[in-house]
Amino acid sequence: MRTLDDLDVEGKRVLVRVDFNVPLDGTRIADDARIVAALPTLQELRERGARMLLAAHLGRPKDREPELSMAPVAERVGELLGAPVELAPDLDHVPDGDIVMLENVRYEPGETKDDPELARRYAALADLYVNDAFGAAHRAHASTHAVAQLLPHAAGRLLEREVRVLTGILADPQRPLVAVIGGAKVTTKIGVLDAFLERADAVLLGGAMCFPFFKVEGHVVGDSLCEEEGIEPARRALAAGEGKLELPSDLVAGREFSADTEVRRLDGVDVPDGWMGLDIGPASAARYAEVIAGAGTVFWNGPMGAYELEPFGEGTRAVAEAVAEAPGTTVAGGGDLLAALGHFGLKDGVDHLSTGGGASLEMVEGKTLPGVEALS
Ligand code: ADP
Ligand code: MG
Repeated sequence: MRTLDDLDVEGKRVLVRVDFNVPLDGTRIADDARIVAALPTLQELRERGARMLLAAHLGRPKDREPELSMAPVAERVGELLGAPVELAPDLDHVPDGDIVMLENVRYEPGETKDDPELARRYAALADLYVNDAFGAAHRAHASTHAVAQLLPHAAGRLLEREVRVLTGILADPQRPLVAVIGGAKVTTKIGVLDAFLERADAVLLGGAMCFPFFKVEGHVVGDSLCEEEGIEPARRALAAGEGKLELPSDLVAGREFSADTEVRRLDGVDVPDGWMGLDIGPASAARYAEVIAGAGTVFWNGPMGAYELEPFGEGTRAVAEAVAEAPGTTVAGGGDLLAALGHFGLKDGVDHLSTGGGASLEMVEGKTLPGVEALS
């Protein structure tokens, strides 16, 4: 993969694809972490004398919805860089400034179709192409894939680091390699679960995705969130994971999915009728912490419970504290998990926070990402 070290950017106009798909609260940016993550690349390009044309998508526009305009993002980038960022209203009216942001690339119908004609219009605006949008690298779109074929190109620093860390986990991890996988559904995590059952030394499960496993084992799940389509994948994973796969041994349950519901600790994992399992219990959290403390590498995706509800966040918090103290290399990814770590103030305890949800998972599953392949 070519990196910024391989490009002479001085005096050139560089088209930089970034992942600025930030959560919005109306037209206010609710969390600018994705913008902050791209700053090293943008600052380096500026220091090396490049002029920048930033390209990114925001949400899933269907018809140029003005509320999905990049305007608030351009403003925030300008504040963070300490320099004005001009917004180009469309591809025919791109101002000549030092830092220009294109409008939402998904305003163009050809973007998600990897349209070569749209890619040619992007390429005509710049001398070089840099892709730092790791979070969009699993998509073959005009601004992440087709355009790379038309200009001298390289990976930005964020994308470079993501690829190095995540392929390192696959290729040559410090052992024991421990995967912690949580979240709501088995079916969204089955690829990564299979990948780690093959390669890891231990796989620790949490979250509602445990309930299909418990059902297969003959436990009752009460009113817990238990994905029906997850039962067969869980049955297969249980058979394949013999000796490696660990499930919680105790749970914290609530009457309903609410912070002020009645709360009960369950000694085992049978959930009575009228209750739902909403977190792993303290014995499970302590067991997971012990495995994590002995790990050479930890990969964590998905929270251990309904962390958004105060009484059901302790399992995720305890695992996050164990990860923060772990001597091994630690990597965490997933939208909700990162939100949970932020919520507990434990983001800094992780060595590498992966910015790409789907892209991180596909990377550790060993898949080829079109946006990454286009940079080699
Ligand atoms: P990520 O975004 O980190 O990949 P997921 O989206 O797969 O994670 O899962 C996160 C969601 O799962 C959160 O909204 C959380 O409330 C929910 N969740 C986790 N455990 C449970 C549970 N036991 N019961 C209900 N919901 C749960
Ligand atoms: Mg999620």
